[in-house]
Amino acid sequence: MNRGAELYAGKAKSVYLTDDPDRLILFFRNDTSAFDGEKTDQLDRKGMVNNKFNAFIMERLEQAGIPTHHERVLSAQESLVKKLDMIPVECVIRNITAGSICRRLGVAEGMDLTPPTFEFFLKNDELHDPMINEYHIRSFGWASDEEVRRMTELTFQVNDVLKQLFLDVGLLLVDYKLEFGRYHGEIVLGDEFTPDGCRLWDAETRKKMDKDRFRQGLGGVVEAYEEVAHRLGVELD
Ligand code: ADP
Ligand code: UDP
Repeated sequence: MNRGAELYAGKAKSVYLTDDPDRLILFFRNDTSAFDGEKTDQLDRKGMVNNKFNAFIMERLEQAGIPTHHERVLSAQESLVKKLDMIPVECVIRNITAGSICRRLGVAEGMDLTPPTFEFFLKNDELHDPMINEYHIRSFGWASDEEVRRMTELTFQVNDVLKQLFLDVGLLLVDYKLEFGRYHGEIVLGDEFTPDGCRLWDAETRKKMDKDRFRQGLGGVVEAYEEVAHRLGVELD
């Protein structure tokens, strides 16, 4: 599959057109960023680790019946995906409190949330991804009610699959963000699932194994991602 023109360069991935109008190439760069792009760095091996990690997770989700955009890995840092009409909404599930919910609601980090909670955010860096609800999504026409229902349902299904997958290797899935898009009338999971977009803690020590290592300057960022990949059995270069 030939890499065509660059369609979009995000903060961590670049997106390229291909010969097939229904397919894109995602190039996972070594760039990392936090706080809506205010803190940035280049981390050796991160692009490759995230590309392989994402493919592994997307394949597991497909096996569990969740429609994803993932087609196949093309190279160390590239994957072929279905071209989606992205919905500008981020779907977040939290199993344990961390990050913005602690600041917003004044709660301590590390509280179990039973049942897990669900939040929508508008994907807009300039506005710092404000929290929104389904009424905003309806009034502004970002997605239909049926699409909102389906994104919510799929995000919870992902939780059932991945909470157990990570627990089996001694990791707690604290929270995560998903993005969906439309593909020939169907809602399909897009973007990525990597430690850049979720929180994972060691179940025994509660050591952070995700992007909070970068956000909080804890060091060993890619080493932690590689350890998670290793525990899951993801083959890295
Ligand atoms: P950001 O845009 O948040 O800086 P990235 O660097 O990860 O993030 O850029 C990837 C971009 O590609 C995101 O805007 C994402 O919504 C978009 N994207 C992800 N998967 C697809 C897809 N299958 N089809 C179209 N666009 C996609
Ligand atoms: N997240 C993300 N991209 C965003 C915002 C959040 O991938 O633009 C992920 C984040 O890594 C975490 C979850 O979504 O796993 C919840 O993030 P939160 O609302 O706590 O925001 P944060 O404090 O991480 O900015």
